[in-house]
Amino acid sequence: MKPVFRKGLVAPAIVGAATLVALAGGGPYWALGVLGAGSLGIILFHLHHIQLVTDWAAGAPDDPVPAGRGTWADAFAAIYRRVRLRRAYQRDLRQVIDRFRQAAEAMPDGVVVLDAGNRIEWLNGRAITLLGLDPDGDRGQPIVNLVRSPEFLGYLEAADFREQVVIEQARAPSMLSMRIVPFGEDDRLLLCRDVTQAEALARMRRDFIANVSHELKTPLTVVAGFVETMQDLDLDSRQRARYLGLMHEQTRNMERLVDDLLALSALESEHNPPRDDAFAIVPLVLQLSSDAKALSKGEHEVTLDIGEAATVSGDRQELASAFGNLVSNAVRYTPAGGSIRLEWRVDADGSGVFAVADTGIGIASEHIPRLTERFYRVDRGRSRNTGGTGLGLAIVKHVLIRHQAELEIRSAPGTGSTFAVRLPPRRVRRAPAAAAGEEATIAMRAAAEGDDTPAS
Ligand code: ADP
Repeated sequence: MKPVFRKGLVAPAIVGAATLVALAGGGPYWALGVLGAGSLGIILFHLHHIQLVTDWAAGAPDDPVPAGRGTWADAFAAIYRRVRLRRAYQRDLRQVIDRFRQAAEAMPDGVVVLDAGNRIEWLNGRAITLLGLDPDGDRGQPIVNLVRSPEFLGYLEAADFREQVVIEQARAPSMLSMRIVPFGEDDRLLLCRDVTQAEALARMRRDFIANVSHELKTPLTVVAGFVETMQDLDLDSRQRARYLGLMHEQTRNMERLVDDLLALSALESEHNPPRDDAFAIVPLVLQLSSDAKALSKGEHEVTLDIGEAATVSGDRQELASAFGNLVSNAVRYTPAGGSIRLEWRVDADGSGVFAVADTGIGIASEHIPRLTERFYRVDRGRSRNTGGTGLGLAIVKHVLIRHQAELEIRSAPGTGSTFAVRLPPRRVRRAPAAAAGEEATIAMRAAAEGDDTPAS
């Protein structure tokens, strides 16, 4: 017999025995009285426990299971065990859900859970920031009322979620990639990511390729045209020489462009850190001054002002190429008769400054912030006619970044420009007096030979 029955029959058995004793001792009335009182007691006992169960079931979910007596003690113990198991299971489940939520919150992407009607059920903090949503007010709202981009609406309608869609919004971040991932019965996960930078980079890459192709196509078309002409026409030697000269000029342009592109890509390569030479600056600026004179072909007055001799640490070749670009620009953008002044000095804070000032065409202020962009030119025609590639200042910028140096540009249209490179103090060591004297002697000798006009 099952234990509950065994225990449950004890009370009726006692009442039965008491009834028999009462019958034997006091007659049938006594027996009836004992039976009635015993049965009532048993009924009240059970009713009391049924009331306890009913109250507990109607109470709060975490109310304790009531204590019972007799058979009810076992029943309540069984219920208690079941409740404890269920609570432990719920706790585990809640922990799993919490961990999933924490994981979704920690995601760098925005996550929005949508129901079958594309209404927001849940969203993480990143989605709130990216989509500019209200964490409380927007829950339950259809996503199409909140993200009103036509591309996104078209994407939702087409319901082809194998790809993502990129949308533009008026607020930051301005470019978002949106992707729907269906799950469950008819639920959807909307993943959104800030792709503003990646899109800008992709656009820059596209523009760069288009620019390079365009820059190469122009001289190539010219050369191809001349080759055809020379093949088709019977030219005399003077004409041939002229055409060959023009072709040579165009091939030189292409060569310069390819050289600058290679220089830029080498400067951008992570595997090519700049050398750390320690070199005397005076011979370098003397060389630059002499290059300026050669480029100018006597059309400008070129002067050199050396404030103080110093040893610079950095990549001599890279810095020479950057400074050389500034010098060549000064010559190319200064009409004949103008003057170009090169200067090296060490400022009070220990930074070294190489500056090139010209009295050339100058630059309007709106162009100045963009001058170091690749292929950015104020006057395309002038740049091309003087053999410019549009990459000179981009190269300068990269060299300076690699040397933690800065480029300062001051310019006014019609008046002239000053391009100054400021090297940080830790890259500049003032030369000891003896070495400075030696360098000054070189400078003087160079001046005497007519290469330069050092002012100090
Ligand atoms: P480019 O090969 O065209 O000279 P750069 O990158 O060296 O290319 O310079 C970018 C643009 O900056 C030039 O096209 C020119 O418009 C302007 N620029 C640079 N240096 C000067 C200068 N010294 N005076 C006037 N404009 C300049």
